Amino acid sequence: MQKEKVVIIGSGPAGLTAALYTARANYKPLVIAGNQLGGQISLTSEVENYPGFFNADHTPTGPELVEIMQKQAEHFGARIEFDEVTEVDFKNGSPFTVKTYGEEYQAEAVIVTAGASPRRLGVPGEEEFIGRGVSYCGTCDGFFFRGKKIVVVGGGDSALEEAIFLTKFASSVTIIHRRDELRAGHTLQKRAFANEKISFIWDTVVDEIVGDNIVNAVKLTNLKTGETSKFETDGVFIFIGHFPNSKFLEGQLAMDEHGYVITDELMRTSADGVFAAGEIQDSVYRQIATSVGQGTAAALRTEKWLSERE
Ligand code: NAP
Repeated sequence: MQKEKVVIIGSGPAGLTAALYTARANYKPLVIAGNQLGGQISLTSEVENYPGFFNADHTPTGPELVEIMQKQAEHFGARIEFDEVTEVDFKNGSPFTVKTYGEEYQAEAVIVTAGASPRRLGVPGEEEFIGRGVSYCGTCDGFFFRGKKIVVVGGGDSALEEAIFLTKFASSVTIIHRRDELRAGHTLQKRAFANEKISFIWDTVVDEIVGDNIVNAVKLTNLKTGETSKFETDGVFIFIGHFPNSKFLEGQLAMDEHGYVITDELMRTSADGVFAAGEIQDSVYRQIATSVGQGTAAALRTEKWLSERE
């Protein structure tokens, strides 16, 4: 059992910021990075909206930002462990138990920043064709679809934003939405409707993704008429929301009905000494800047909580 003052679960912008702040407070935090250092921004090709991080000649990439955040946190004493948390025990108070595949830790305070993942459609062919035509990240994979026909599934801001982005590469982008009305905001709707490469299939769901070695079509059902059809496509981009990576926290922290960890304005969770920040507790803003802010707040509260116990 390895004893730690502060364990941070997750290494996205919230986690790396919490690491920076608690490191500068001399707590030598341990970050358990999870399966992707940097979380979702590692999959982002261009970061245009993170203030103070701008270069007119070269739009910075997600991995570049992650590398700087990692170096900055490590410079001040944070340690990063490339492992995944499998189990926690927050029920018996501090010190808390955090188990990974390779180690068991005893932590005086914990900051949970495990983030969120793209929701899956759950249809046949989806898992099979991931990386071979099925994608959850336009900025990562759009490049591979130059001159190709693709479909986007979803009707929210993400679906439209990514569909518009994907028109930079694809010859056509067909948005398949299960209703006849979009959830996305007006501005994005206007931009999508005005884009000549974008068309819509309404009231329709994807039942199956098919192909040989790579995707070549989706099987569809119109929910209003019950009519089924096959639509040829080279790629299927799925943007139907996210789910928090909170399975390992079930029964340990209070969560809402969607599995988001409930925090108060001081980033406290239902367990005294366990704080949370970023998309594990925020389904609304989901920005690098907001996650950084929440990570800062969680770290400051953790420092205060620890200093009051000393
Ligand atoms: P979202 O707003 O929850 O939209 C998900 C979309 O997927 C909805 O249109 C939904 O249909 C559809 N959907 C859900 N489950 C489905 C299923 N099983 N099969 C088919 N369709 C399904 O998610 P999001 O677009 O990722 O956005 C999440 C949050 O981030 C929102 O608050 C959004 O405003 C924000 N965001 C903002 C921006 C921006 O401001 N530029 C960009 C991206 C995201 P229904 O409409 O029928 O429910």
